[in-house]
Formats: sequence, structure tokens, C-alpha cells
Amino acid sequence: MSPKNYLSKSQYIRGLQCPKALWLYRHNFELMRKTPASLQRIFAQGHAVGEIARQRFPGGILIKADHRHTAEALEETAAALNSGASILYEAAFLADNTLVRTDILVKQGLDSWSLYEVKSAAEVKDIHIQDIAVQRHVAERTGLKVSSACLMHMNNRYTRKGSLELEKLFAIVNLTDETLFLKHGISVKLTELAKIVLSNREPPTGIGQWCSAPHDCDFYEHCWKDIPDYSIYDLKHLSWEKLVELRQKGVMEIRDIPDGFPLSPQQALQLLAEKNQKAQINHAEISKHLRRLRYPLHFLDFETISPAIPPYDNSRPLEQLPFQASLHVQDRPESGLRHLEYLGNGREDPRPGLVDFLCNSTSSSGSVIAYNKEFEGMCLRVLAEHFPDRSKELLAMRQRLWDSAESFSKAHFVHPGFKGKWSIKKVLPVLVPEMTYAGLAVANGEDAQAAYIQLMSGKLSPEEAERLMAGLKEYCGQDTLAMVRLVEVLRNAVA
Ligand code: SF4
Repeated sequence: MSPKNYLSKSQYIRGLQCPKALWLYRHNFELMRKTPASLQRIFAQGHAVGEIARQRFPGGILIKADHRHTAEALEETAAALNSGASILYEAAFLADNTLVRTDILVKQGLDSWSLYEVKSAAEVKDIHIQDIAVQRHVAERTGLKVSSACLMHMNNRYTRKGSLELEKLFAIVNLTDETLFLKHGISVKLTELAKIVLSNREPPTGIGQWCSAPHDCDFYEHCWKDIPDYSIYDLKHLSWEKLVELRQKGVMEIRDIPDGFPLSPQQALQLLAEKNQKAQINHAEISKHLRRLRYPLHFLDFETISPAIPPYDNSRPLEQLPFQASLHVQDRPESGLRHLEYLGNGREDPRPGLVDFLCNSTSSSGSVIAYNKEFEGMCLRVLAEHFPDRSKELLAMRQRLWDSAESFSKAHFVHPGFKGKWSIKKVLPVLVPEMTYAGLAVANGEDAQAAYIQLMSGKLSPEEAERLMAGLKEYCGQDTLAMVRLVEVLRNAVA
């Protein structure tokens, strides 16, 4: 059976987000972006979670035929149902020209079934309800009696102690009523999407907030190709209503926004910086912020992974697990920098070594400087929970956090070169052009996660492991050195 003949569940979800995305997928597949490595990792993690979730309902029949063998999957499912099976994994159903695969089906009583969709997320999202609703709709249209429809998601309150406890690892949310509520709308939507797929004309949908919600669209590059590199869409927190208003006035470049157009103070500063091609610096606020710095200065950065399945004792699903820290220390204004670092070896829990490193390498006084302190603060809080004998020191560090991103995130320093962003990767090349991440083996946080996951796999040769570890150290060290330089820039700016 050719996939051209029906709509799959993922196509239905794609069509809900944007009809044009569905049409492009079916008619112009070559325009789709290559799946980024970070997304591939999420898919792989979802797959692994799905397999573990089956053990929560053991002894079922797995429908083995994959998405390229739909007819076989439907036959296997029918055979399993006819054989009196009481638990099915990956059962296939086709109705209303739509194909769904249900993660887990569990028989209740004589002839009704509970449907479980498994997600490696920490909570229920609207899109999950739509996902389950279409499965339920199609399964029921084939004659299956569905008595309950549930989401199994990661229970991020569960703390692993020894072997995984599957009853605690997953939270099960009953969405029977919610999916019933969507039932009528699904028939209408399926008819609508079928017409779109059959049409030879691309839907006229323009770009909008749906391009990135609930997912980043795979056709973003195609649809956004005519939008300039720095446009009104980069104006910080500008509402979609105002964006549409500007587009209707023919405005695309920030510098063309007419005088008097209602903007927030931050947006107005961004516009001024762009029009004048000059940084807008709030000396008073930056000076006030800098005066809060206390020596010794500890420039701290963590790299983390957040696996859905907690890999170690005292870890939770999807919790940020720091595996690396870089620390540049300046003891006094006139002294030089000391660099200290810690990196887990990938074979064992990196956190005990990291906690020792933090407590032994930082003074009991002085600022702890992080870029976006919320993240490092959260990591320190979670470490303190899991290592109660060091919690006092870790929480004291958290108390002393100073945010080196604040001047940029609060628009006290706005530069046209930032293009409306304030991440260190955007700010650094503008203010400290001699420092670059380009060419680094590990060049961003996602690269760092991928590298550490490879180290954890235990499949690397010693040389490969060494090369990755060197890349990780260079990258994390660059992040803390970047903060040192940015504080210098801020000081010079207000000197
Ligand atoms: S980029 Fe936006 S407009 Fe284009 S297909 Fe995707 S969601 Fe639709």
C-alpha cells in the first residue's frame, strides 16, 4: 500500500500546524530541511522511551512491520486482535484514509481497549491531546471499542534509586474526555487535509507564529527565504498583530519602521540602535549592576545533558545533569586569571566529581558569574538536593550568582550587531570579535551534549574519546573566558 494513498498521523499533526507544511511535505518533499542532529537525538530518545514503556505493560504482541510495510502491519494487527491478544504494541489502524500506529493497547474486560500514547515529555501538551484524539478516532472507525485514551509521559518527580521502577518512571494521564471532545472536529479536519493533499496548488498560507509552534517547521528555510537577515521579525517580543500591521504598511526592515509606531521601550532602543548604527548604552543601569560584583570573581559555566531515562541513582527524568564545568577565577582586581575545569569521563556519574570540584575550587566569598544565571542557579539547586552534605556550599554559591547576560537581556546594552538577540554566541562576536566559536570541534551546547552522549556510549576508541574530551574542554573554557572579556567590555563602556 503506497503512503501516497493515505494520511499518516504525523502528516495529520503537520497539517494541523500548517496546511502548507503538509502540502509541501506531500508535493515538494525535497524542500524539507535535513533533520538536525539535535532532533535526531530527540527521536532516538523517544524511541528508547517507547520501548521501555512497553515493559510497563509486559507480555504484549509487537506489530513488527514498519511504516514501509503498511499492509503487513494492518494484517499483523488484525491477526493479533483475532487471536485474542490482550496487549498490543504498535498496532496499525487505517480508516477515513488515515493511518495510525498506537504505542500500546491494553484490553479491558471482554471487548474494549485502553489506548496509551508514550511521550518523552514531562507534561501534557495540547498537541499530545490532538495526537491521541486522531488515534482514537481512527481506531474507533475500524470498529475497535476504546474505553480510555491516555498519555504516558515522564514523571519528573521520580528519583531513581537502583533499578528503574516503571510505575514511577511514567505518569499516566487519562485524556478520554478531552479526546472525545475533539472527535467531531477530527472528521472535519481530515476531510479538509485530504483536499489539500489532493490539490495541485500550494496553499497560500503566509508565515506566522505557526512556523515555530508547536514545532519548528521543516520548511522554514523555504518559506522564510525572502525575509532579510535582520528584519521586523527580529524585533524583540513584537506581537504578531503589530508584525502584520507593519507588513501591511510594506515595512520589512527594522530601520523602515515609521516614527510614532507603538513600540515597547526595549523595542524602541533596538530601533534606535539600528537607525543610528550605534550601540545604545544605559550607563546608570550597567554601572549599578557592575557595582554588585565582589572579588574573587568566579566565572562559571556548566554543560549538561537531560536524558529522559535517568541514568544514575539520585537523578530524575529529563533533569539537567551537569557533566562539565569551567571556572575562570580572578582573585583581586590586579591579579591574573586562573583556569580550572572538570569533565566527567562518560563512564560513571559525573556529578560527585563535579560537586567536589565546585566546592574545592571556589572561595566562600566573591561573585559567581554566569551567562544567564537562571540556568546555573537551577543546576546548583538540583545538585544541592541530590548532595545534601554539600548543599550548604552549593546553595551559597547560588546566592552569589551574578548574571553577565543581564545588561544584554534587559536591553541596557543594545548593539545593532546583536540583531535583537542576547545569547553569548550573538553578543561575543560583536563585542569581542577576536574570540570566535567558528572552527571549534565543539561549537555550541548541542555539540557538547552530543559529544558527552557519545562518551557515555562506551563505543569510542581511547583516541576518539580523548579528541572529544579535548573539544569539550576547549569549548567550555571559551564560554567562561568569553564572560571575562564581556565584563571588561561592560566596564570600559561605562568607564
Ligand atoms: S514555514 Fe511556516 S508557512 Fe511555511 S510551511 Fe512551515 S509553518 Fe507553514
